[in-house]
Amino acid sequence: MARPPLTQQHRREAKGAPSFPNVEGPKIGRLCPGCGKKLRRRDRRLCVECSVPITRKNFDEGRRRAQQPELLAKRSATQKDTQAGDPELESVGPAQLADA
Ligand SMILES: [Zn+2]
Repeated sequence: MARPPLTQQHRREAKGAPSFPNVEGPKIGRLCPGCGKKLRRRDRRLCVECSVPITRKNFDEGRRRAQQPELLAKRSATQKDTQAGDPELESVGPAQLADA
């Protein structure tokens, strides 16, 4: 049976360093900075309603940056490399890929 992984605290103690005290999180739970709603999941920074428009905005920004001429040229070069010898893939140009 595999041993459970050591926690960071155990590692620190094994090295003879003092372990950090356990810090309790705020009792009220995490709130969404966008709307102030209580977050159900601890690993979420925003609630679902607030994260959707922000995720869309980031996606749009990523698409916009991907259309810069130097990046298009780079991608075109990459596609020529990867599609060489594959007639099916050669028919797919950057325009179709951008809309996918
Ligand atoms: Zn929210």
